[in-house]
This record gives sequence, structure tokens and C-alpha cells, in this order.
Amino acid sequence: MGLVPLLESVIKLKLISVHEYAKKYIRTNPEETIADVKKTLKTAVKRKQEGAACTICGQPIWAVGSAFSGLDGCFSCITGESDDSSDYEVY
Ligand SMILES: [Zn+2]
Repeated sequence: MGLVPLLESVIKLKLISVHEYAKKYIRTNPEETIADVKKTLKTAVKRKQEGAACTICGQPIWAVGSAFSGLDGCFSCITGESDDSSDYEVY
């Protein structure tokens, strides 16, 4: 049995670190502070690791989307899109 990352078996989001994502985020949301964004993201990642599931379909949550929408959902349920190739997930 190989070590297949949980994320890759479900969705194809680009994995970047919380720090990298936070830097991108504040570029488009300059009113936010990087410390707050990182804290929000880390909380979501932790909840995902603890098994938080999409309230709609039961798949693992999309940490980035769940962090900023306040809704526990997977990528497809939060965005309503099936093409998720251009989006990110944090670790
Ligand atoms: Zn879902």
C-alpha cells in the first residue's frame, strides 16, 4: 500500500503552504494581515486533518474555501465547479 496523499485521491488542487497562500491572499486583500490569514488557514487545515467533512457530500473539506467562506464544504460544493485545476489547497 503506497502513501497516496489524501488530497490527490479526491481533488486536483495545487498544494501550497499556508505561508505562500497567505502571501497571495493579502496581495488581493490588502486590508487583511498576513498573521490573521495564516491563523484562519491553519485552523481550517487542522480541522481538515481532524476529519472535518463537507456538510453536503461528506468528502474531506477544502481548507482554503472553508476558511474564508465559514462553510464546511469540499471544493465542488463550495464553488459549484468541476474544473478545479487552477485553484489551491494549503497544507
Ligand atoms: Zn462536497
